[in-house]
Amino acid sequence: MKTRLSKNQTVNVITLGCAKNLVDSEVMLRQLQAAGFKTLHEGTKHADVVIINTCGFINDAKEESVDTILQWSLAKKQGEIDQLLVMGCLSERYKAELEKELPEVDAFFGVNDVNAILKKLNAEYREALLGERVITTPTHFAYLKISEGCDRNCSFCAIPGIRGKNVSRSIESLVKETEFLAAKGVKELILIAQDLTYYGLELYGKRSLSELIEELVKVDGIEWIRLHYAYPAGFPLDLLDTMNKHPKVCNYIDIPLQHINSRILKSMRRGIDENGTRELIQTIRKMVSGIAIRSSFIVGYPGETAQEFSELRDFIRESEFERIGVFTYSHEENTPSAVLEDNVRPAIKAKRAEEIMLLQQDISYKRNQSLEGRILPVIIDKQEEGKWIGRTQYDSPEVDNEVLITDNSKSLEAGQIVKVKVVSSDIYDLMAIYPAE
Ligand code: SF4
Repeated sequence: MKTRLSKNQTVNVITLGCAKNLVDSEVMLRQLQAAGFKTLHEGTKHADVVIINTCGFINDAKEESVDTILQWSLAKKQGEIDQLLVMGCLSERYKAELEKELPEVDAFFGVNDVNAILKKLNAEYREALLGERVITTPTHFAYLKISEGCDRNCSFCAIPGIRGKNVSRSIESLVKETEFLAAKGVKELILIAQDLTYYGLELYGKRSLSELIEELVKVDGIEWIRLHYAYPAGFPLDLLDTMNKHPKVCNYIDIPLQHINSRILKSMRRGIDENGTRELIQTIRKMVSGIAIRSSFIVGYPGETAQEFSELRDFIRESEFERIGVFTYSHEENTPSAVLEDNVRPAIKAKRAEEIMLLQQDISYKRNQSLEGRILPVIIDKQEEGKWIGRTQYDSPEVDNEVLITDNSKSLEAGQIVKVKVVSSDIYDLMAIYPAE
């Protein structure tokens, strides 16, 4: 292994897990480039150093992280790379165990260790680069991580134990970062956090997401602002007025509800019950007309009876969420629910998840059919097999639906926001023509 790394060394960063992890990788890539390294993100080409930014949230994610480490450990054994470094949530959560079990890895780091990683590579951390990143998403959209950590205590969740308490970034630093992103061509800004609606509580003494949005909408170049990971309990209703006030804020909100049965919501420590949840969804729909609500649910939580599951299924049928994600309960050590018996069999969990997704297919198709004939603004993401692929303001990248566009003008480009006419639809996607008229 080369001891001293030099300018023409290449560092390949592999990001697993969520968009919050991706932002961490982008920050580190910027620091590495400033230190003179060549960088790759998710590269397959030769690299001297590989840094794996892991996810350690639930079993499936942990397995994927370990598999990726083993894959690159083999590459190191075969002399294809010099150094293998591991960072992120899995490493933060299981450092001691991993050090014993994975000797090929040169060093393990936590979630906030960019400084230490740079030191390991004989490079310095540059404070002056705060707010700067290497954008690894298509440059017309980017994630903005507005806070780190979480003050909640949801029973099934390991994140507070991994990422610590909620730390909001200042509005000034977020505006500076947004200006940096806009200057790089970003048009769609996707706000993320563990708990978006908690923003500012510890920093400004009050929920300040609306105040933040009031500043972000002023940044030239940013045309769409999208909100992810809102939390139902203590939801700041002023946010809905802010959404109505600013056309730049997409008519879309992601708000994981996890369940509807009050006994289960109580055991999950969600701080809201069935009535509170129903009232909130009704209020959001009433106050922001035409809003698309994305939510996510957990099935197979300890003790979930067939009756309690059917309550969830009926709630989802009635509520007709535009977009949903369903997860099977993952029994995680060092979480409050670890003391409960994980007594819903895996086959039942899988069956319940499938039942919800089948139900959602009907809801999604019905919704898509209602959009046929409509003229909608879409952001153009990419071209595939002669068709342009875009998204409406009701669709977030990678998790939601797409619009397949026939470009009769032969003028479309990635990153444009244009009006298209929806001509047909299927379960998940819309088919459209451009120009709309
Ligand atoms: S809000 Fe709950 S589920 Fe989300 S990160 Fe915090 S503890 Fe986990």
